[in-house]
This record gives sequence, C-alpha cells and structure tokens, in this order.
Amino acid sequence: MLSGLLSGGCAVCARPGASPCLSCVGLLQHPGNIACPAGLDSCVAAISFEGAGRALVSSLKYRNNRQSLAWFSAAIAQQVTSEVDLVTWIPTTARRRRKRGFDHAELLGRRVGRRLAIPAKPLLRAPVARSARSQTGLTARERERRDAFVAVRCRAGSVLVVDDVITTGATLKSAAAALRCVGVDRVHGAAIAYTKPRGSELRHA
Ligand SMILES: [Zn+2]
Repeated sequence: MLSGLLSGGCAVCARPGASPCLSCVGLLQHPGNIACPAGLDSCVAAISFEGAGRALVSSLKYRNNRQSLAWFSAAIAQQVTSEVDLVTWIPTTARRRRKRGFDHAELLGRRVGRRLAIPAKPLLRAPVARSARSQTGLTARERERRDAFVAVRCRAGSVLVVDDVITTGATLKSAAAALRCVGVDRVHGAAIAYTKPRGSELRHA
C-alpha cells in the first residue's frame, strides 16, 4: 500500500497507474437510496462507504492522499441532475487544515464545480467553537448552536454543497439552514460516499 501511495498508484490496492484502478472501481458499490437530510432539496452520493469505497475515501480524508480527487469529482458530478448555480463545500476545520496543509473539501468542491462548469465559492464558515475540543456536558441545543455553520450572502438561487461522507446528514442539514438564512432558495447535497448511520457513526470532523 505504501509504495502505491508514494508512486501515486491506486489508493486501494497500490497498483501503479490511475486511482482507483479499474479492478478496484469494479469493487465499489452503489450507495443505494439515500435518506435526503432535512432542509435539502436533493442529496446524492457516488459510492457506498464500505470495503474498497471506505479505503478509497479514507485515503483522502485521513491520509492526505489526493490522487483520487479527479475520480471523486467526476463520480460526484455524474450523480448531480439538479440545476445548480453555484458549488460550495463543507469546510474542513481550521485545526485539520493546519495539520494537513490543505483543505481536501475545498479541492473537491472546486473540482466538482469545474466538472459541472459552474462557479465554486467558499460560502460556509464553521464557527470557531467547532474547531475546539468537543465539550462534554453541553445540552443538545448548545451542541447544535456550536456545530452551526455561518454562510456568506450570495446571489445564487440554487447551491450544491459538496461533502466527503454522509452519515446522519446532520452536517448538510446545518449547512442548508445557514444557506437558507442568507436567501438561497434551493440547497442540494452531494458526497463521495454514503454510509447508513449505525451505533458507531462516522462523525464529520
Ligand atoms: Zn486498485
């Protein structure tokens, strides 16, 4: 696996060449029906977050591996059938961005915009508290306020919000609420992968 990462090969099996390679693309599963998070007009995902799909997305999300970005953005763009004026993304927390040196969500969002031939802009800002350590003892309402996004005003009527993995949809729901607050009419969600929420959920960091 390591040699594959260094040589820029497949992020799943390390075979030299494209990432994912053709045989690993064959292992990726369709996400099935996605429960559209509250507040969104539609929501799509390219693959299921399991097996090879999990390995592929984790290589970007947790190991700074950018070689699958072109494939991810093409796969997301292919799923989008709604009319959108503008693409934005769920921003990575400042702490993670500093650690990584880049915002993988921004790279993905801008690439999806290019694929769809639609402008991409940073519209969402996570409040400072979201970057801080999780605080215990908060009420659900306090936690919701802490996790809320702030959106900048824009003229777009319909915005596509790109994320990496959708689990409960809470992150997209919060983003949609912020965008509607600044006058966006329709909010669509699109992610690389979808995983059904289970006991141990993948929390969006
Ligand atoms: Zn492979």
